Amino acid sequence: MAKILSVLYPDPVGGYPPAYARDEIPTITGYPGGQTTPTPEAIDFTPGELLGCVSGELGLRRFLEDRGHTYVVTSDKEGPDSVLERELPDTDVVISQPFWPAYLTAERIGRAPRLKMAVTAGIGSDHVDLPSAIAHGMTVAEVTFSNSISVSEHAVMQILTLVHDFVPAHDWVTTKQGWNIADSVSRAYDLEGMQVGVLGSGRIGQAVLRRLKPFAVTLHYCDVHRLPSDVEEELGLTWHPDVRSLASVVDVLSIHTPLHPQTQNLFDDELLGAMKRGAYIVNTARALIVDRDAVVRALNSGQLAGYAGDVWYPQPPPPDHPWRTMPHEAMTPHVSGSTLSAQARYSAGVREILECWFDGRPIRSEYLIVDGGGLAGTGARSYTVAG
Ligand code: NAD
Repeated sequence: MAKILSVLYPDPVGGYPPAYARDEIPTITGYPGGQTTPTPEAIDFTPGELLGCVSGELGLRRFLEDRGHTYVVTSDKEGPDSVLERELPDTDVVISQPFWPAYLTAERIGRAPRLKMAVTAGIGSDHVDLPSAIAHGMTVAEVTFSNSISVSEHAVMQILTLVHDFVPAHDWVTTKQGWNIADSVSRAYDLEGMQVGVLGSGRIGQAVLRRLKPFAVTLHYCDVHRLPSDVEEELGLTWHPDVRSLASVVDVLSIHTPLHPQTQNLFDDELLGAMKRGAYIVNTARALIVDRDAVVRALNSGQLAGYAGDVWYPQPPPPDHPWRTMPHEAMTPHVSGSTLSAQARYSAGVREILECWFDGRPIRSEYLIVDGGGLAGTGARSYTVAG
């Protein structure tokens, strides 16, 4: 029998379950391109419930305990006395979410002799040290596509929020109880007519491009895999062979690559300085793709007109993280991929992965990041490992 450890974000401060705003969520059975949504044998939750926090347990307890496994759920993940550290030595499977990541460092993996699989309830497995996972013979899997559309909607929202300068205008009528039109519009523009680009045109990046097309903008992208020419034509896309070429022409840049050796610290002072003065960046991919302090410098100097996103490092960030107080930001906590709609899909996807694992059936290749001693599936297409 196996021990499964889920590291999930804490319950709402108002108690669990929360009062839900809606009674149901739309039923989605497939994604663009034909991939189906998760197909576990059964689920033990009602779609639309809060599943990603400790009391939500990803809806997995009955399933796991009926099969005789031990299921431990915690949000306590930092420090030598944390539940994660204490449970890890005899855990077989760690499940974690990028919103509240269990950082599976080389050191932690080295102290977990039974650890066979790390599952991301969501997308993005950079919180696992992939070279160590490969050396340890582990499988790393994630629920590819489960929250890609959720993130693309959030990115479009944050692009409009920055360009229209929504946050200060909202503050004027609420916190400041004013009606300051001139102050509210002094940095407000239309997106229409702008040059807009995505770095990474995978599932999320392409969904962002499709959603932006009706805004009458000119669309650009950079990806190591060029899109089919009919897609380029349909969306009127200009492909850029490298990030510098893309960054230097756009007014708005949305980042959608995984974090891996090729993308770490890509946006430093030099690359930010090569962008147009007054460009905007939205980053819902991973914080370490940009240089934290270079972003703050670029906002203070006016080189960037705005920065938004939902990804930080570390997560949760300390109270004095400079992005909490930098100017012209529209930041959220890491929430874009954890809407109640997304939670239903990634919880079902985790269950599908576990059913396959326990029953000795292959996990869908699109869910695999590491398997069989190397990058596999989506991991082989979208990630690299150093060395
Ligand atoms: P995907 O695998 O479908 O697409 C990633 C794309 O990035 C691929 O097309 C790949 O070729 C491209 N790419 C990789 N390295 C590149 C490089 N150096 N230069 C240019 N292109 C490169 O993944 P996805 O579903 O679109 O997700 C992308 C990332 O978004 C995830 O890895 C994750 O880090 C992040 N994400 C964030 C949230 C959130 O809640 N904020 C949720 C889901 C995913």
